[in-house]
Amino acid sequence: MIVTDIEGTTSDIAFVKDTLFPYAAAALPDFVRQQAKDESVQPLIAEAAALAGLEAKDLEAVIAQFLAWIETDQKITPLKTLQGLVWETGYRSGVLQAHVYPDAFEALKAWHTAGIPLYVYSSGSIKAQQLFFEHSVFGDLRYLFADYFDTTTGPKMEASAYEKIASEIGHAPDTILFLSDQLSELDAARTAGLETCWVQRNKTVKGSEKDKPSPNYPCVRSFSEIAFST
Ligand SMILES: [Mg+2]
Repeated sequence: MIVTDIEGTTSDIAFVKDTLFPYAAAALPDFVRQQAKDESVQPLIAEAAALAGLEAKDLEAVIAQFLAWIETDQKITPLKTLQGLVWETGYRSGVLQAHVYPDAFEALKAWHTAGIPLYVYSSGSIKAQQLFFEHSVFGDLRYLFADYFDTTTGPKMEASAYEKIASEIGHAPDTILFLSDQLSELDAARTAGLETCWVQRNKTVKGSEKDKPSPNYPCVRSFSEIAFST
């Protein structure tokens, strides 16, 4: 079993930071104006208005509130849901195509073909993860994954989340390999008894954990270096 992170692991962090989030911010005002009466959008406007102490019918004020939350990087539930809907429009229209490293695509495909169950664990919502892999640069990759986990299972830096994932997958923690670019996530996964591999993509980032030697974790530059046997 392999559980993989997305951002910085299967995919370039820059796609999320420089493409996905700016797209949502730019497209959100018109999306809300056009879809305000839609049954999936209307409750989000009402929820956001209630949270901010605004009138739901004052659409422009609610839009300004959404944008202010984006600006200050607030994890507000109606905002996250709304971003998901905006991304969906972008993916379906072909404007957005999710980045996946070619080595990640090749390895995931080979593992899948070899019958190794693959799972995703990412801080993006499960819906966002599925959209991401449905509209990747390599086409619809959802067939590769048996299931998806997000932070509704638990925070990525807490061992309990990995214990829960192992129990939901239905396999012993030490039969699961967890792939991530974040040492704090690997620490939590290891505490829960999972095997871990540090995917260290970026050689040029300086001063961060990426430059520190890590005797604790097997470390790879690409998925092609990962050895996994069932
Ligand atoms: Mg990551």
